[in-house]
Amino acid sequence: MRIAVLSETDGAETRVSATPETVKKYKAFGADVTVQAGAGAKAGIPDAEFEAAGASVAANASDALKDADVILKVRRPAEGELSGAKPGALVIAIMDPYGQEAALKALADANVAAFAMELMPRITRAQVMDVLSSQANLAGYRAVIDASAEYGRAIPMMMTAAGTVPAARIFIMGAGVAGLQAVATARRLGAVVTATDVRPAAKEQVESLGAKFIAVEDEEFKQAETAGGYAKEMSAEYRAKQAELVASHIAKQDIVVTTALIPGRPAPKLITRAMVESMKPGSVIIDLAVERGGNVEMAQAGQVVEHNGVKIVGHNNVPGRLAATASSLYAKNLYAFVETLVNKDTKELAVKWDDELVKATCLTRDGAIVHTAFQPTA
Ligand code: NAD
Repeated sequence: MRIAVLSETDGAETRVSATPETVKKYKAFGADVTVQAGAGAKAGIPDAEFEAAGASVAANASDALKDADVILKVRRPAEGELSGAKPGALVIAIMDPYGQEAALKALADANVAAFAMELMPRITRAQVMDVLSSQANLAGYRAVIDASAEYGRAIPMMMTAAGTVPAARIFIMGAGVAGLQAVATARRLGAVVTATDVRPAAKEQVESLGAKFIAVEDEEFKQAETAGGYAKEMSAEYRAKQAELVASHIAKQDIVVTTALIPGRPAPKLITRAMVESMKPGSVIIDLAVERGGNVEMAQAGQVVEHNGVKIVGHNNVPGRLAATASSLYAKNLYAFVETLVNKDTKELAVKWDDELVKATCLTRDGAIVHTAFQPTA
């Protein structure tokens, strides 16, 4: 079995889909690994480290993927990137498939079996493969670090001879994986932390981290969690009540981190221009949902916007701002999935196409889009 690790063609992507640690593991189960030259450079992994772990290094993508049975990437391959790939090769990445009909068709036309790691079911067996969690956790941490760097004041309360510095007030909107890590990080820095979510389960989790939970806890809130553990899109009536609550709270905050997402939908708008204008100059908002349309009305992807002295930070690819750690966890997620696709005795690929993990993540196969959620419309 041959595994190819490609460089990312998106210049803003810093992560890599394998590390020397996972290369050693692939080698241990009998695979040959080829890494495209420079694939790990932005994550601080020189080619020599991959070679020392047993990989060979190929000068370019077409050499790397030649004869590969499994092709690993962070992002969905661009059209043409897989030319020369073996028919039926498995391509495993974060595929970002929603609303990407043309890209999915291109993957089908490339005759590869494309797997979207972000569609991995959130069941116990697949926790080790959960890229959404491994990356969101880092994004939540980094959001608070970025906020503290943009904020012109200290976060913890300090009692000094020259006077007392008050603790910063940090409000986290959306208390899923990223939000809870943001709560924990803000607490560690000594902030006074509050958090909100529409899912009732989040309340206890926020409180267990020592933060205060704030939400409109009506009948709709009690029903807001789907069977899969995600948030539903809330009604206009709920959103109005939530906006009223947030408006009065946000004016007193120094830092706000927004993380709210709804699978397959644009991010809910939680912070309006008027709310931004109610905040003190010097306050900072980090919008972690900016790549999904943003939770903040004025956030711009890839930019820091300043409005009335309030900074609205919309960094793209926040996990990629911790490229080494994000790559290390992502690579382990991929390894854990690939391991399930291999027969341990023959050391050859033996994909069980009926396995729920395979069915949930496989987008294309044998020249067609096979995932039920992404069937082309007539
Ligand atoms: P996510 O990234 O989809 O959304 C982030 C948070 O935003 C969620 O907590 C969501 O409830 C919240 N949100 C959505 N709309 C909102 C709104 N209008 N106002 C305020 N908040 C809003 O979520 P996630 O971090 O991927 O977590 C989703 C769920 O999956 C959680 O229940 C989490 O505990 C669960 N989970 C389970 C596993 C597992 O069992 N293996 C692993 C990770 C996460």
